[in-house]
Amino acid sequence: MIRRNISLFKLWGIPVELNLSWLLVLVLITWTFATGYYPSNFPGLFTIRQLWVLGFFTAILLFVSILLHEFSHSLVATRNGLPIRKITLFMFGGVAQMDRDVEDPVLELKMAAAGPLMSLLLAAVFYGLAAPFGQVLFISAILRSLAKINLAVLIFNMVPGFPLDGGRILRAALWYKTKDIKRATRIASRIGTIFATILMVLGFVYFIFFRSFIGGLWLVFIGFFLRQAAQSGYLIVAFRQALGHLRVGDMMRTGVVTTDASTDLMTLVDEYFLKYHYGSFPVLKNGTLIGMISLKDVKQVPRELWPKSVVEDIVDREVAGLVLHPMDSADKLLNMIMRKGHGRLPVVDDQGNIVGIVTRRDLMEVIRMMTALEE
Ligand SMILES: [Zn+2]
Repeated sequence: MIRRNISLFKLWGIPVELNLSWLLVLVLITWTFATGYYPSNFPGLFTIRQLWVLGFFTAILLFVSILLHEFSHSLVATRNGLPIRKITLFMFGGVAQMDRDVEDPVLELKMAAAGPLMSLLLAAVFYGLAAPFGQVLFISAILRSLAKINLAVLIFNMVPGFPLDGGRILRAALWYKTKDIKRATRIASRIGTIFATILMVLGFVYFIFFRSFIGGLWLVFIGFFLRQAAQSGYLIVAFRQALGHLRVGDMMRTGVVTTDASTDLMTLVDEYFLKYHYGSFPVLKNGTLIGMISLKDVKQVPRELWPKSVVEDIVDREVAGLVLHPMDSADKLLNMIMRKGHGRLPVVDDQGNIVGIVTRRDLMEVIRMMTALEE
């Protein structure tokens, strides 16, 4: 998966980002509409150039529709006191990043339902706008297809498998009824996994029997992505329950090896990475944590510059804002490691001293043990 994101703008206080994979989708969608959908639905009515312009506008407005769909979820969240860190648009749609999880099934239900309602509203608006433009074929063609696309987005999202909106609604309903979030998530994520598998099989069928390479591959990709999301969604809930009352202080490693901001990269590689085999080290400047340095950061500097460059030049300062406290809940740790993809995080006490480090591997080990004890 492509990791690079570009910041676009802020809307209602929420930053919107675009994953680079979306550009590929833009091209694919434009191409699909310009060479498939429009020529077969409006045969002979547009020139080749017009078809590409139509395709492009359709793709852009699809992007706007998906963004509004995501925003509707996020606005319900922020209105109810759940902060949304950002919205990222990527290959298969959009995701809103939440700092905390929903604690209440009713709110989860409202949040999940907001997206499909927005898609329904958009379909109605596009359809309604198409009528007055009936004479201008170019515009009414776009509007009508966007009405259809938004309906398709609505139907797809209402499939009752987690992590789709329909699956979240189902989970919220089961959760409300049984008061058991783990069981509710397990059921919804099983349906999600089955649906995802069907999509993947359909993709192969398409590919083999209809020789539709892109269409087939697309379904396989979406299925694969959904399958993973369905499974990890359940795992996170299960892990959270297994971790229960544990705190970061119970799981951290003490005796942390730190490096100084003034260390040159040559020494860093020889005396730290090669010696300790850790993936990253906390960086101190005058005794204060300023970030973490990983092998990946070092690799971005050409080797001949290593003796002359120091850690401070390339330290990842973002991590300094993501420190944990020994009394933080395991939940917070799980969030930071599982959701945000940080492999190693420093633990800092009230005085600002580094007292430990927590790693993904340690966390997984604790989860494995706790789950084993539970059974
Ligand atoms: Zn949605």
